[in-house]
Amino acid sequence: MVRAIVGANWGDEGKGKITDLLAEESDVVVRFQGGANAGHTIINEYGKFALHLLPSGVFHPNVVNVIGPGVALNVEALLRELRALEERGVPAPQLKISDRCQVLLPLHVDFDKFEEERLGRNSFGSTKSGIAPFYSDKFAKVGLQVCMLYDEKLLRERVNILLVKHNCLLEHLYHKPPIDADALVRELLETGEKIRPMVCDTTRLLHEADRAGRVILLEGQLGTLRDPDHGIYPYTTSSSPLAGYGCVGAGVPPTSLKSIVCVTKAYSSAVGAGPFVVRLSGDEAEELRRRGGDAGEYGATTHRPRDVGWFDCVASRYGVMVQGATEVALTNLDVLGYLPEIPVCVAYETADGERITDFPATPVLLGCKPVYEKLPGWQCDIRGIRKYSDLPENCRRYVDFIEQTVGVPIHIVSNGPRREEVLLR
Ligand code: GDP
Repeated sequence: MVRAIVGANWGDEGKGKITDLLAEESDVVVRFQGGANAGHTIINEYGKFALHLLPSGVFHPNVVNVIGPGVALNVEALLRELRALEERGVPAPQLKISDRCQVLLPLHVDFDKFEEERLGRNSFGSTKSGIAPFYSDKFAKVGLQVCMLYDEKLLRERVNILLVKHNCLLEHLYHKPPIDADALVRELLETGEKIRPMVCDTTRLLHEADRAGRVILLEGQLGTLRDPDHGIYPYTTSSSPLAGYGCVGAGVPPTSLKSIVCVTKAYSSAVGAGPFVVRLSGDEAEELRRRGGDAGEYGATTHRPRDVGWFDCVASRYGVMVQGATEVALTNLDVLGYLPEIPVCVAYETADGERITDFPATPVLLGCKPVYEKLPGWQCDIRGIRKYSDLPENCRRYVDFIEQTVGVPIHIVSNGPRREEVLLR
């Protein structure tokens, strides 16, 4: 059985915590897209961790963790994360890397920086981890698969093809020194040796696990609104964070995907550029940002302050629908305990004055303003509550309201950042 855990919104919904929780009842956890450009925050018995590339099953010694072919593999970043786990006493995880996964090179990180510099004010808010240049190369078929690191002749040919384009851009567009092919080949051969024991045909491994009745968890990064096709293009990421794509990026049969847990927050947050209709400013924003998450709403990778806003019914309903969610996990409910009344955005008003409740494409979205309704708050701290029925009535009403809005049952409610702070409904 395959289950996906994915985000309904702009990312940072708290997927890491939910994955860590559900990993306990899984045999395999797979990353299927993205790279070290976003982070999952996990707080458990070993401490607090920001995982970027490692699947969130790494804290469970019995779980097999897989980096699927759809991932942008930054080997140095991966090894750094593994060392950080070891230094803090986490038992060595079982980790497998797909031989078809492609490697993200230092030149991709450089190109990301050069391109953001070149675009200046018009940049897309990249985390500058090389993701867009990496996927551009992958789909332009000049990328390098992990399996190619073990065939020096083929590797040299591929590096030469890659560098024709890149050295031309370096010289003429960015005015930087060119990259030496021999040095890059040597570096890549060493990189290959560092990960060799972990590399295998993960597609076969996953199909066998599926046939044997194992539970496979696909771990998404970011959320629906960052999907290159269905999100707020061009303020999107470069690979699909949708559960449907999870089957492709991981390598599992789509017919085995039985459960899609879509994570959404009790309020909104977004990091990076792009339209964000519910964006708050001033003291209201500062207070929500300070109280949000486990230590305020600051990006797990870039530490940038996140934009924050009230729950966005329009965006979340769309986000949950596009993911094809079978259930929703609602996180960060505890954060709203300070408010006597909680605004929620129930519709958008377009630049033409039309009231809409379906999430529009970018040109209309850019002109939208939020239409708010207010729900009564509960004005107390709900952390520490262990049974859903013990939540204050207004708090349960808020959950009911969101459930009705998104049209999918909410089974998991998270009332604190720690693994055990969760209420089943
Ligand atoms: P992800 O990328 O979707 O895994 O989300 P992040 O980990 O980047 O962001 C979620 C933030 O919310 C992190 O700081 C988490 O520790 C925190 N968090 C998750 N669930 C809860 C919750 O129920 N309450 C509070 N207060 N913080 C939470």
